[in-house]
Amino acid sequence: MTPQSVLVLIKPDGLQKAVAGEVISLFSAGDLKLVGLKLVQVPLKLARAHYGHLRGQTFFAEIVDYLMGKLHGNNPVVAMVYTGPDAIAKCRRIAGATNPEAADPKSVRGKFGRVTTKGVFENLVHVSSDVKEARREIKLWFRKSELLA
Ligand code: UDP
Ligand code: MG
Repeated sequence: MTPQSVLVLIKPDGLQKAVAGEVISLFSAGDLKLVGLKLVQVPLKLARAHYGHLRGQTFFAEIVDYLMGKLHGNNPVVAMVYTGPDAIAKCRRIAGATNPEAADPKSVRGKFGRVTTKGVFENLVHVSSDVKEARREIKLWFRKSELLA
C-alpha cells in the first residue's frame, strides 16, 4: 500500500486539559512515522481556511473560535504530520467518532472529549478526512522545510 500523510491537530482543549502527551501516546499505536510537529497559536485566517469547507454550517463560528483557543484559555494547537500505510484511516480510528459521546471509549475523543451545553463537539483532535484534504491541510499548516523527508 502506498504511504499516506495525514495532518493531526491536538486542539486547544488538549493543552488546557494537559493531556497532549497521552494523546501523542495513543497515536503511537498507529505505528506511523512522525514527520512534523510544532506548536501553533492559531490566527483567525488559518482557522477559517482550515475549516473552509464547513463555512455554511451553523457551528462554523464556534469551531473557528475553538481552534483559535478562545474557548480554552488561548491555548495553542499541537500540529503533527504522520506518514505510513493507511495513515488516514488509522489516525481517524485512534481519534474516534466526531461526536465524543458516540466515540469508542478507548479512542482519544471517547476518553477526553465532551459535548458543550451549546452542542459544540469539543473532541480534542482533528484528523484529515481523506487524501485530498490531507494534502491541502498539510500545505496550510507546514512549510516543506518543517517536514522530514
Ligand atoms: N462539529 C460540531 N458539531 C457537528 C459537527 C462538527 O461541533 O455537528 C465540530 C467538531 O469539533 C468537529 C469539527 O466541527 O471536529 C469539524 O467537523 P467534521 O465534520 O470535519 O468532523 P471531523 O472530521 O473532525 O470528525
Ligand atoms: Mg473533518
